Amino acid sequence: MTEQDAIQTNDPFEKSMKGFLKILTKTLTDDNVPDSPLDRLSPSEILSFGEVSTVLTADNRRLVSDAYLVRFLQEHYFDISNTVEAVNRYIQWRGQFKPQELIRMFSIPRSLQHFWPGRYHGYDRQGRPVYIWRPASLDGHGLLASLDSNRALLMKFHVHTLEMGEYYMREVHGTVNNAIVMIYDVKDISMTQYKHKYLGFLIEMLALEQQYYPRRTQAIFIVNTTPVFTHIWSMVAPFLNNRVRASIHIYKDNFHEALAKHIDPEMLPRWLGGTCSGCHGGCVPAGGTVPNEVLSELGTGKTEIVRKVQHGTTFKCSLPVLRPNMAVRVQFHTKAKDIDFALLFTQHEDEGLHEYSIHPMERHQSHRGTVDVQFVAKPGIYTFVWSNDYSIFANKELTYRIQTRPASGMKPRSDDEEEKTRSDSDDETSVL
Ligand SMILES: [Zn+2]
Repeated sequence: MTEQDAIQTNDPFEKSMKGFLKILTKTLTDDNVPDSPLDRLSPSEILSFGEVSTVLTADNRRLVSDAYLVRFLQEHYFDISNTVEAVNRYIQWRGQFKPQELIRMFSIPRSLQHFWPGRYHGYDRQGRPVYIWRPASLDGHGLLASLDSNRALLMKFHVHTLEMGEYYMREVHGTVNNAIVMIYDVKDISMTQYKHKYLGFLIEMLALEQQYYPRRTQAIFIVNTTPVFTHIWSMVAPFLNNRVRASIHIYKDNFHEALAKHIDPEMLPRWLGGTCSGCHGGCVPAGGTVPNEVLSELGTGKTEIVRKVQHGTTFKCSLPVLRPNMAVRVQFHTKAKDIDFALLFTQHEDEGLHEYSIHPMERHQSHRGTVDVQFVAKPGIYTFVWSNDYSIFANKELTYRIQTRPASGMKPRSDDEEEKTRSDSDDETSVL
């Protein structure tokens, strides 16, 4: 679609992917670069390609690249009407969902940045982006809770990941005719882990991927398998078609050689037998149980969030602050009616967690003007509380925005100046 667009992404791992790209370009030769999408097709397949191109409306044909059209044709075994239908659905979906905007506009919630145990980590020897996932470390329940069970937000995160895959493909080859490679490290996976409703969500995501990102995965390496995994696999495998099954390679702990054959060890974490030295920490977020303190962080971004606060209820939103000396600003207003607001601070002390009230619960005439609270934060959890507990009938419509930035160098400024400064320090603000 917009393959040549130079875009700035918001993927926190993009910097290290650039490092991996440098390593890749040293080894990538013409021999291991894939051909253009049409070069791979047989004469009869090229005819189908031409036929689909004429059946699609001119507008829709313009919106789908050659590489993508080939992927759709392959997915539908070169059936013309099925391919045309799928491409039309895809274009309609992109028009409504606008996934291409997510890679620079979507602010990844902090809980997902820290507790989603997966990321793109380097490229295989053919220049395919490699995505590493550690499903055993996924606290699906905790992550959903940290997003206020906001499935739409989670969906955006997943689509963002899919779009970043296409983005990294283009980084190497300038087009999306490639695919990605996945490594699933299933060490310590348990049966109970995937009984949660999160499993349903993952299945929904897989369906979306198949529909709108066809032929995306070249190979899946499943490593560190255990008897539990073998059991799960025996239930899943019969539902996969032969092509998909053939692309899945399963290993216990004897995977080092196989992975190294496909992927330069410099692009692999040490725990997968590689020598990666470009990432801090463990290469892929460790995941694990999402702490209760990180519960609702919905709305901690640059954009305004609108929430209904039902009568007799309270809405809370937590902001974990990890570094000292962060400037925090919360602005909110309500439609037509007032609301109660309080600000709490929780920090870890020797005896455990302690909660303090920074602003006691107080009624605000926020329907008459925006309430603006600014303070310099120290590490801990700040919880913003909007209460409509006192209303028997009236629901309130709350609009709020929470921003953070390093406090050093902060001075009072007009709104215009503030806009400028905020975009200057996007690195610091957009993640929270
Ligand atoms: Zn690494």
